[in-house]
Amino acid sequence: MTFTATILTLFPEMFPGSLGISLAGKALNDGLWSLDARDIRASATDKHRTVDDHPAGGGAGMVLKPDILAAAIDAAPHVGPRLLMSPRGIPLTQAFVRELAAGPGCLIVCGRFEGIDERVIENRKLIEVSLGDFVLSGGEPAALALLDAVVRLLPGVMGKAESGVEESFEDGLLEHPHYTKPRIWEGLEIPQILLSGDHKAIAKWKHEQREALTKQRRPDLWRKYLPDKN
Ligand code: SAH
Repeated sequence: MTFTATILTLFPEMFPGSLGISLAGKALNDGLWSLDARDIRASATDKHRTVDDHPAGGGAGMVLKPDILAAAIDAAPHVGPRLLMSPRGIPLTQAFVRELAAGPGCLIVCGRFEGIDERVIENRKLIEVSLGDFVLSGGEPAALALLDAVVRLLPGVMGKAESGVEESFEDGLLEHPHYTKPRIWEGLEIPQILLSGDHKAIAKWKHEQREALTKQRRPDLWRKYLPDKN
């Protein structure tokens, strides 16, 4: 099964973008996933190819028209859930990324301007997904980031060694620090334990580091992690 991503955007030239290089790009070339970036404007019907209009009730900016966007969604072959990149959405998590990667694909709507008409979200059952508590000028960079996270989890994309379960968030903890040669750099040494060859002690050290970092930097994750542990 090939994971199929369908993107609806006013700027299809932003794709595959960063997903066309390195790991994701190679996987795209190898047919491990596929990408179909479609221009919402192709569904516009008037001679000016209008896709937006003024917000009802007044206010700044423009809103993507429901009829045009819905027509674009209906015209696009797609599988899996329909997502809308949106600062109001559920914050993207590794768990959600894993769920998507286990499925057949997804449709991603990229907003622009002030956003899209609420009725499309309702009638086309769009799941709003946020990259974080900040405002981008469009959904495209958010869609690229989401797909980057999904694609690296697809079977065959990463080597076994790289896809370790020790990564940040996989068990609710942040990752431990990494080191590599030289052994001493600018007076700083690689922690002795990592050079000891004692795999059990190393695993214990890594776990302790992960717990300490999470407790210190992310009290929100730490609170969620604690009940599982005991
Ligand atoms: N007026 C909106 C912001 C619109 S930004 C508000 O105040 O909530 C334009 C588009 O960028 C959005 O429609 C969305 O698709 C995208 N976008 C902006 N910030 C985002 C974020 N944090 N996560 C995901 N998408 C985002």
